[in-house]
Amino acid sequence: MLNYQAPLRDMRFLMNEVLDFPAHYRQLGSGEEATPDTVDAILEAVASYCQEVLAPLYVRGGEEGCHWEDGAVRTPAGFKAAYGQFVAGGWQGLSFPPEYGGLGLPMSLNLLKSEMMGTANWSFNMYPGLSIGCINTLLQYGSDEVKAQYLPRLVSGEWTGTMCLTEPQCGSDLAQVRCQARPLGDGTYALTGTKIFISSGEHDLTDNIVHIVLARLPDAPPGTRGISLFLVSKYLIHADGSLGERNPVHCGSIEHKMGISASATAVLNFDGARALLIGQPNKGLEAMFTFMNTARIGTAIQGVAHAELSFQGALAYARERRSMRALSGKKEPEQVADALIWHPDVRRMLLTQKAVAEGGRAMIYAAAQRADRMFAAAWAGDEAAYQRHDGELGFFTPILKGFLTEMGVEAASLGVQVLGGHGYIREHGMEQILRDARIATLYEGTTGIQALDLLGRKVLLQTRGQCVRDFCGSMLALARPYLLSGGLRGRMARALAWRDWQWQWLTLRLMLQARRDKEQVGAAATDYLMYCGYVMMGYHWAQMAFVADEALRSAKGTETDAFYQAKIDTAQFFLERLLPRADAHARMALAPADTLLRTPAEDLAAG
Ligand SMILES: Cc1cc2nc3c(=O)[nH]c(=O)nc-3n(C[C@H](O)[C@H](O)[C@H](O)COP(=O)(O)OP(=O)(O)OC[C@H]3O[C@@H](n4cnc5c(N)ncnc54)[C@H](O)[C@@H]3O)c2cc1C
Repeated sequence: MLNYQAPLRDMRFLMNEVLDFPAHYRQLGSGEEATPDTVDAILEAVASYCQEVLAPLYVRGGEEGCHWEDGAVRTPAGFKAAYGQFVAGGWQGLSFPPEYGGLGLPMSLNLLKSEMMGTANWSFNMYPGLSIGCINTLLQYGSDEVKAQYLPRLVSGEWTGTMCLTEPQCGSDLAQVRCQARPLGDGTYALTGTKIFISSGEHDLTDNIVHIVLARLPDAPPGTRGISLFLVSKYLIHADGSLGERNPVHCGSIEHKMGISASATAVLNFDGARALLIGQPNKGLEAMFTFMNTARIGTAIQGVAHAELSFQGALAYARERRSMRALSGKKEPEQVADALIWHPDVRRMLLTQKAVAEGGRAMIYAAAQRADRMFAAAWAGDEAAYQRHDGELGFFTPILKGFLTEMGVEAASLGVQVLGGHGYIREHGMEQILRDARIATLYEGTTGIQALDLLGRKVLLQTRGQCVRDFCGSMLALARPYLLSGGLRGRMARALAWRDWQWQWLTLRLMLQARRDKEQVGAAATDYLMYCGYVMMGYHWAQMAFVADEALRSAKGTETDAFYQAKIDTAQFFLERLLPRADAHARMALAPADTLLRTPAEDLAAG
């Protein structure tokens, strides 16, 4: 059975030795309180909550799922009590402003908390997780009255929130949104229509749920320029803050899904529900996409979470299960056979999982520092700085979201493979991880949509390749001191220097191809995204390997030599066995769009 252990050593290695979080927090306006002792205490407390409370509910909750009856949803046994502990711990407010009851700590700590909670139990993590988007939207666009009425109880976790975008006819293409909001003449609106696939849209964890909903005003222009944002509270709120009558927003059903079955995915019917306009009319999509980068990092974490949990399960099994002998001779002669872990092919699978989990964690933590700077600017009211940091982060998020969730699925699938047939049956929980991982490449923008955003918008349209050149500059700066070194350091440095050149060349070629054929952007996008992901992960593996190597040489590291050596070995594995995949993606990205579009749609079926 799975037995989640929070990877605190790896988290501390990244925070203290690789990315220097203590210095980062000292430079942040909101970081003064995030002293090393405070951070450590938070990590320890969240880790024990995850290990002792959430992890034991993972398989049980997944098997039981949510129950719908007459519009009400019951979460699996134990979820309500676990949520109560979450609220009592004050965990929802970790990174929100103190004026609404939060602790005002940097947003990165919230992401670290989400990583541990999500790894222990992704479905559970969805309930407080969705609230974060709702809280951020209200913080940025809510009127003072709305903020005062809703934020304290969302920040405390007493209520949860949702984000209602998707409708039956549209998910990626929100220009097709049909929900209508009619003005009632008293400053409020009557909202009518159906939203589907709404995570945490109905449940029994809290008394009230606050929905943030995309809908159209009667005179709205068509398309994305006619979408406004509304707040719909499950219960109307009296002036004194107490809950009033039930608002006509009802849960018509919940979905029966491939995975994350303990997370309620609701069909919500709005039948003239009383709604408040949030932000400007017809500017709803812009408002909804506030802090979208952070939401996407939140989903990218899911790839790391499932890779980590699956790796932990597979590693424990591979140490115990015995099968045949190592090709070079008996490794455990006193045993009937050698353990799986001796076989190179099993090592290949385990090391892929480890490389994805630890490399992905490094990518997320680096992005989390950027998110900290963006939030610090937003809360300080520095619009120009906020826009600048948001723009920078905008290049990283589609790569993190698209690449890490795809890799999370691969890692979870390898976890099943390591256990053989025992991975496929339910007993060990490994197949549940794979089923749960699958959604991450779909919601919060599919991989295809992330790829279009990356190549079409961020790289070609908005920056004409500047974002790539900037990142390549960082790669070269990291590599330069070691370019002439021997050993792994030198090889990694030269690999980065080569990728610096290759990435810019690939981007330029695609820029030129796209001028000749617009379809080339769509044809190349997903391979381009995967290429970027492998190279970016390579950069972070090199960064970790250089730090580990230095710690071994200087004997000044805080970890054991074995820990640092394992880092270096995994970096070498990544360099030799995963990074070469980038070359195939580069070649495929450059293949003409015609390969994909030549056959007429009606001739695709061979039958
Ligand atoms: C479990 C679960 C939870 C969810 N939670 C929420 C939630 O809380 N709130 C919410 O609003 N929604 C939620 N969703 C909805 C989710 O965000 C959408 O399903 C997702 O955005 C994809 O939209 P779609 O399903 O309509 O697929 P479509 O948009 O129909 O896409 C289908 C396929 O076509 C591709 N595609 C579409 N357009 C293009 C294009 N222009 N170019 C290239 N490829 C394209 C896509 O990449 C995809 O592979 C959830 C969904 C699920 C299953």
